[in-house]
Amino acid sequence: MRAALAALAALLAAAVPVVAAPGDDPALAALRAGDAYVSPRVLGTAAAAEQATLAGNAAALREAGRPVKLAVVLGPVGAPSLAAYAERLAAQLDHDGTVIITRPGGAVAVRTPLPRADIAARLRAADLEAVANPVERLVQASRIAAVPVEPDEPDVEWAGLALLAVALAGGGWAAAIGMGRAGRMGRRDLSEARAVARLHLDALRGRAGGLARRTDLSEEARGRVERALGTYADVVGALQQAATTEAVAALVPRIDGALADLSDVAAGVGAPFPADRPFEGLCAADPGHGPATAEGPVVGIEGPVPVCTACREAADGGSPPRRRLLPREGRPVPFDETALPLPSS
Ligand SMILES: [Zn+2]
Repeated sequence: MRAALAALAALLAAAVPVVAAPGDDPALAALRAGDAYVSPRVLGTAAAAEQATLAGNAAALREAGRPVKLAVVLGPVGAPSLAAYAERLAAQLDHDGTVIITRPGGAVAVRTPLPRADIAARLRAADLEAVANPVERLVQASRIAAVPVEPDEPDVEWAGLALLAVALAGGGWAAAIGMGRAGRMGRRDLSEARAVARLHLDALRGRAGGLARRTDLSEEARGRVERALGTYADVVGALQQAATTEAVAALVPRIDGALADLSDVAAGVGAPFPADRPFEGLCAADPGHGPATAEGPVVGIEGPVPVCTACREAADGGSPPRRRLLPREGRPVPFDETALPLPSS
C-alpha cells in the first residue's frame, strides 16, 4: 500500500515542471526534461499551467513527426540575441527539430534544423509580434515553423525502400509513388493512434488519482485503484515500444479494462462515471490534469466548464487554459473535437 502510494506520487510528480538547480539556465533544464518552458518571471503563478499547455501543443507536434522545443523566457540568458540563444539551446539540447523562443514585448526567435525561406516568409506574414500573449505567440509560431524530421523508424524505412526498389525495377513509377504515400500514412497513423491511446491513459491516471485521494474507499476498492495505476504504468511503457498501429490497438483492451474497473469502484462510492465517456468529470482543458474541482473558462469553449484547480488559477491570473491537442491527419486538433475512438484491436 505504501509502495503503491509512492508509485502514485511518482506518477503525479511526473506532471510537475522541473525546477533547475540555482545558477543553471532553468529553460535549458526544463527543455532537457520536456518540450516546453514558461518562466515564472514572465507569467508568475500562471507559468506552470501555461507550460502544460505548451507541452501539450509540443506533444501533438512531436506525434505528428514535427518535434519542437518551446520557451517563454525573460531574456536571452547570456547570449547576444534571442536568435543566438535559440541556436545555443538547440546545440546544448542536441535537438534535431525546431526551437522557438519568445520574450515579453513580442520578439520571437525561430531556429529550424535547416534554413527555410518559405517558413521565414510565413512567419513574417503571420505578424506574431502583434500577438500579445507569449504562449499564444509560440503556439502560432510552432504551427508554422515546426518542420518535419524523419522519424527514427528503420523498419518502416527499410520496408519502404525494398518495395520501392521492386517497383522501380518493374518500371512502376506510379506504384512507387503510391507506396511512398502509403509509407508516410503508416507513420502518421501510428503517431495518431499512439496519441489517442496516450490521451485515454492520461484519463485513466486522472481518474485513478482522484479515486486514490478519497478516504472512503474499502481496502478491496483501493486495491483495484492500485491495480489500475499499475496497468497505467505498464501500458505507458508498452506504448513507447509499440512500433505498429496493430501493436497500439493490442493495448486498448487493457486500457478499457482498467477504465471499466475504475468505473465500478467509482459507482461503489457514489461518484459514478460512465466507462464509455472516460473524460467526464476530468479537467475540460486536459483530462490528464485530473478531476475537475472548479469551473472556469477554457479558450475555444462556450461558457465556464469544469476544470482542475491549476487551470482555474491560471484563468484567474488572466491566462485561461487551452485544450490539449492531438495530431489528426497531420494537424493538431483539440482533443475533444477529434471525436476519436480508440484504435480498435
Ligand atoms: Zn486543468
